[in-house]
Amino acid sequence: MSAVPQERRVVTAIPGPKSQELQARRTATVAGGVGSVLPVFTARAGGGVIEDVDGNRLIDFGSGIAVTSVGASAEAVVRRASAQLQDFTHTCFMVTPYEGYVEVCEQLAELTPGDHAKKSALFNSGAEAVENAVKIARAYTRRQAVVVFDHGYHGRTNLTMALTAKNMPYKHGFGPFAPEVYRVPVAYGYRWPTGAENAGAEASAQAIDMINKQVGAENVAAIIIEPVLGEGGFIEPAKGFLPAISKFATDNGIVFVADEIQSGFCRTGQWFACEDEGVVPDLITTAKGIAGGLPLAAVTGRAEIMDAPHAGGLGGTYGGNPVACAGALGAIETMKELDLNGKAKRIEEVMKGRLAAMAEKFDVIGDIRGRGAMIAIELVESGTKDGAKTPNAAAAGALAKACHQEGLLVLTCGTYGNVLRFLPPLVIGEDLLNEGLDILEGAFAAI
Ligand SMILES: *Cc1c(COP(=O)(O)O)cnc(C)c1O
Repeated sequence: MSAVPQERRVVTAIPGPKSQELQARRTATVAGGVGSVLPVFTARAGGGVIEDVDGNRLIDFGSGIAVTSVGASAEAVVRRASAQLQDFTHTCFMVTPYEGYVEVCEQLAELTPGDHAKKSALFNSGAEAVENAVKIARAYTRRQAVVVFDHGYHGRTNLTMALTAKNMPYKHGFGPFAPEVYRVPVAYGYRWPTGAENAGAEASAQAIDMINKQVGAENVAAIIIEPVLGEGGFIEPAKGFLPAISKFATDNGIVFVADEIQSGFCRTGQWFACEDEGVVPDLITTAKGIAGGLPLAAVTGRAEIMDAPHAGGLGGTYGGNPVACAGALGAIETMKELDLNGKAKRIEEVMKGRLAAMAEKFDVIGDIRGRGAMIAIELVESGTKDGAKTPNAAAAGALAKACHQEGLLVLTCGTYGNVLRFLPPLVIGEDLLNEGLDILEGAFAAI
């Protein structure tokens, strides 16, 4: 594990003087469109801690957006990636291949749901994986339409902006967007008009009716969904929704794509979140948690679908870079060795217990949801718990800020910006986890 001491320490204002100096340099040269949640500059990170250039140590409830599930300096990742760096940094798999790429694809075939023959292709980023899933589905079905869902997030490239639901900040001013993208309702239990218990059946019926009436099932190449919606607010589609949509896809020759870029690789306490309801996707996109912080992404799926594009139709200069592949093999090794699915389940138990107690005291907490180490609270105007559920983005912002000041890094999300999300590294110690939750509780009391 990391050499970073697993202890919170706040020795300056946050951000401290050195971070502020770096921030001034950054503002002068880094494009303003690239934001940062908290402008403390990182010196080192590992386990559940990020140490900044001023010597502060923050408890990490963000994992670099669900990436460093094994920590930001996991021993096996560092060891394997370093060894690979010594051997060679790059050849381009499309020029002369190497074993690491094949090994990652073998692991993906083994770990993803379903016992059918599977193949994979590797890329650099989540958005690139999603784009390629669409290419593959279109080549296989010879159809064009792509169906996505309310509150969905799939990336920032042109096609994935079109697939993403939220305008600000992801799409605003960046159109025109790719055509043949259609958006249908998702079973958002907390905000479903007739109640969470009806959301699964009603939302799936509405979505299917819209696809049939407005698009025509026979025109649809792919249906793409996050089994737990990430940026949209950690929305777990109500029970029954995913199986119904998956069955509709299968019945109509549509490629069902699970975008597990955020929810995959032990994050929800299972290798992949779609396993929770026994859904077996045709294609699955992965990235974020796959390689312990190195840039890697994949599309994995049924061999006959993956083999549909012509030779040379898929690829990219850096896709499946050997150092990133070595990192992935180190991350997967760590997940298996430390039973990080078990750890994620334990994190859920601790967090949900503490958050439920907080919800008793602070009625701005409208909903507690998520699975494993992908947990969120949705914040509403005080006193509206069973009423208007008016989104309270101000509370989310104020709480995040208060936590940051105390040395706890938390992130917000949600279509209405009113969701605080918790994505600790799965290797975080339970004492740090509880200390982080103490800070959160203190922040509630303070605002
Ligand atoms: C982050 C994310 C993406 C985009 O991944 P990038 O690596 O940022 O391109 C796509 N889908 C989901 C569900 C994500 O969470």
